[in-house]
Amino acid sequence: MTVQLPVVKSAADPRFAQRVSRVMGGPLAARSVSVLQVNVGKVCNQACKHCHVDAGPSRTEAMDARVADACLAAIEQGAIGTLDITGGAPELNAHFRSMVERARALGAHVMVRHNLTVQDEPGQADLPAFFQRNGVEVISSLPHFDGASTDRQRGAGVFEKSIRALRALNAVGYGRGSSLRLALVHNPVGALLPGAQSTLEREYRKVLAERFDVTFDALYVLTNMPIQRFRAWLERTGQLDEYQETLEAAFNPSTVTGLMCRDMVSVSWDGRLYDCDFNQMLEMPVACAGKTIFDIDFAALGQRRIATDEHCFGCTAGGGSSCGGQLVE
Ligand code: SF4
Ligand code: SF4
Repeated sequence: MTVQLPVVKSAADPRFAQRVSRVMGGPLAARSVSVLQVNVGKVCNQACKHCHVDAGPSRTEAMDARVADACLAAIEQGAIGTLDITGGAPELNAHFRSMVERARALGAHVMVRHNLTVQDEPGQADLPAFFQRNGVEVISSLPHFDGASTDRQRGAGVFEKSIRALRALNAVGYGRGSSLRLALVHNPVGALLPGAQSTLEREYRKVLAERFDVTFDALYVLTNMPIQRFRAWLERTGQLDEYQETLEAAFNPSTVTGLMCRDMVSVSWDGRLYDCDFNQMLEMPVACAGKTIFDIDFAALGQRRIATDEHCFGCTAGGGSSCGGQLVE
């Protein structure tokens, strides 16, 4: 059974804001709203140990048609270039497929955070064909090419199912250097910073091709954020302070200008707006006028100050971390 964790909130810690201010000469601020990242809910067929959403099969929070419609209206109104759909397992939401089709009809690039194993759920076996038909970019988590490590983080049998799903994506043309882009996501299994993205990508390519006949276009390396389920695990194992210190000691000033929150806005399943999916999980709303998708104010969002706290050090450690992988080499 999935245990729902309470949101841990405290007064914002100024340390991250101070470090950023030294780099930027002022507070962290948005520079555009080119990406609408929509979290359609917490329902997921998996319950991974590191999940920052605290998603799982027993969760019920799901975006309804009214919020989905408002997201589409915002894409049109704001001339948003990219819709990035996440969850949970977004494909399990009743409005997922129509959102993809309508966003494509508006000319938006659509990315989906696809956990691979959802292809085994009832009625989802045609997802690779659906993605291909709609030219969707697929981003899939595979924490490690070693099956035991992946299963340890994501559940028993997940690696084998993931390989089967990757082969199904390859079979319809994904991951072969065409416009059908397939990116994999690596994150460390444990309280460690990730290794260098380019080195890991070479290893993933070699092992997945040789052992499993699987190809992909890019590997994104992500740092585990010290929030929600991963934070609870750090606390339980007495590693939270050490992990936070590791993140802060690895602060890299050159990652700051490229932080993903500067160019995106994140929408929750119930239509509230946040700077990113992590702030969404911590219930730190955007600090500007128009706090929901129903009263979205693009002018205010485009020049808003980003709400930050100590978890933000996860985005600036080492090569940095974002939904598109490391920020600098
Ligand atoms: S990490 Fe992804 S696949 Fe795993 S429980 Fe969370 S939302 Fe589901
Ligand atoms: S956690 Fe969110 S707000 Fe903080 S730096 Fe990362 S992307 Fe920006």
